[in-house]
Amino acid sequence: YGDASQKIDYVFKVVLIGDSAVGKSQILARFARNEFSLDSKATIGVEFQTRTLVIQRKSVKAQIWDTAGQERYRAVTSAYYRGAVGALLVYDITKRQTFDHIPRWLEELRAHADKNIVIMLIGNKTDLEDQRAVPTEDAKEFAQKEGLFFLETSAMEATNVEDAFLTVLTEIFNIVN
Ligand code: GDP
Ligand code: MG
Repeated sequence: YGDASQKIDYVFKVVLIGDSAVGKSQILARFARNEFSLDSKATIGVEFQTRTLVIQRKSVKAQIWDTAGQERYRAVTSAYYRGAVGALLVYDITKRQTFDHIPRWLEELRAHADKNIVIMLIGNKTDLEDQRAVPTEDAKEFAQKEGLFFLETSAMEATNVEDAFLTVLTEIFNIVN
C-alpha cells in the first residue's frame, strides 16, 4: 500500500453507518487526514472525504461518505447508499444499545445497497476497555453469522482504523478484478 498522486484507476464509494456518537466521523477523520478530535461537532455540509491509495499497483480513490446527523432509524436516504460498494457498520463497545441496533442498520443497508457490497462491522473505542459493554465474542459471532468482516478499533489511538478500510477496499478490489 502507498499513496498515489496521479492517475486514478478506480473510485470506490464506502459508506459509514451506525448510531450517533459511536465515532463514525472520527474514524473517517483518522483515515482521511490522520486527525482526531474529542469534541467532534456534526460535520454539516461535507458529504464525503477521499483518500487515494495504491492496491496491487493500481491507484484506488476511496470516497468515504459520512452521515451528517441523520442517524435516526430510516432517516438516512437511499441516495446515501446509492453506488456504495463498501460499508463500515459502526457501534461503540461501551454502549450496548449501539450494538443492539446493528441488525437494523444491516437490514437497512441490505435493502438499499448493492447485493455484493462488502461490509465491515466495527466496534469502536477500544481505548475505553474498562467501560466495555459488548464482549468481542458477541460481535465476532454476529459477524460470522451475517458474513461480515469484523474489527475493533480506536479512532482515538489510531488502532485498526487503517486495517478496517484497507480490508474493505482490498476485498472490493478483488471483486472487481
Ligand atoms: P459519530 O456521531 O458517529 O460521527 O461520532 P463522532 O465521531 O462525532 O464521535 C462521538 C464522540 O466520541 C466524540 O466525542 C469523539 O471524540 C468520541 N470518539 C470517537 N472515537 C473515539 C474513540 O476511538 N475513543 C474515544 N475514547 N472516543 C472516541
Ligand atoms: Mg458524525
